[in-house]
Amino acid sequence: MTVREALRNAADRLAQAGVPDARLDAEYLLAELLHTDRLHLIADGGAPLSDAQLNAYEQWLARRERREPLQYVLGTQPFMGCMLAVSPAALIPRADTECLCEAALAVLKPGMRVLDLCTGTGALAIALKKHCPGADVCASDLSVDALALARENAVRNGADVRFFSGDLFTPLRGERFDLIVSNPPYIPRGELPDLQAEVRFEPDMALDGGEDGLDFYRRIAAEASEHLNRNGWLMLEIGSTQGQDVSRLLQEHGFSEIKILPDLAGLDRVVCAYNGSRK
Ligand code: GLN
Repeated sequence: MTVREALRNAADRLAQAGVPDARLDAEYLLAELLHTDRLHLIADGGAPLSDAQLNAYEQWLARRERREPLQYVLGTQPFMGCMLAVSPAALIPRADTECLCEAALAVLKPGMRVLDLCTGTGALAIALKKHCPGADVCASDLSVDALALARENAVRNGADVRFFSGDLFTPLRGERFDLIVSNPPYIPRGELPDLQAEVRFEPDMALDGGEDGLDFYRRIAAEASEHLNRNGWLMLEIGSTQGQDVSRLLQEHGFSEIKILPDLAGLDRVVCAYNGSRK
């Protein structure tokens, strides 16, 4: 069987299984298997595949057919120019979260202390350290398995990040930062069963934001000032309908200059707040 034929069969199968972007996923999987990229794969469409290659492709397709996320099958996901290992231990980094990272980089300067809460794969912490090597970057997570993955990703990307194991600020008693970022779990619990099939493979712990999805924002808003230097920034990823609620929570806890920023689709995705008056 040639590359072209294998791709056609695979795209049909994935489409039948309801996979969005079936053809694209068929290409990504075969390209990874053959250690090439999609353009070379398509240019070499007449090349024959060995039985071993077809078998390996078959196994990956079967996983994707069951709607396991493409990234878990591939094992990696790029984020802000860093290549990250991904696994069911943590949420797959999303392109939308790059908007939070960009907002953070706009204020981050060498010498500043940064904390990434609920770091998961380590995406935000690692990307901030890579793009601002002079910053002192810490990250925490409650999940021991996620932390192991984040540590692996820091090594893989040569990012010197200090990791702390525990619930939100618990392992950071007495520590203060100039910038705190977080993409906490924010899906309202009742909506979890209705999420896209792929998201059900991701850990509930990384998604479940309590009854109304705001549990982590309540805790972060209440505890962040104790861990922020005066004139420090707090930047949070939010669900697209949570901008007003999260802004109000931050206002109630004395934050000012609260801004809501959009993601690439134009939906509300980031809330930034300032700890202290600039005047
Ligand atoms: N953006 C993720 C999703 O909707 C949710 C991430 C989160 O809860 N932090 O799949």
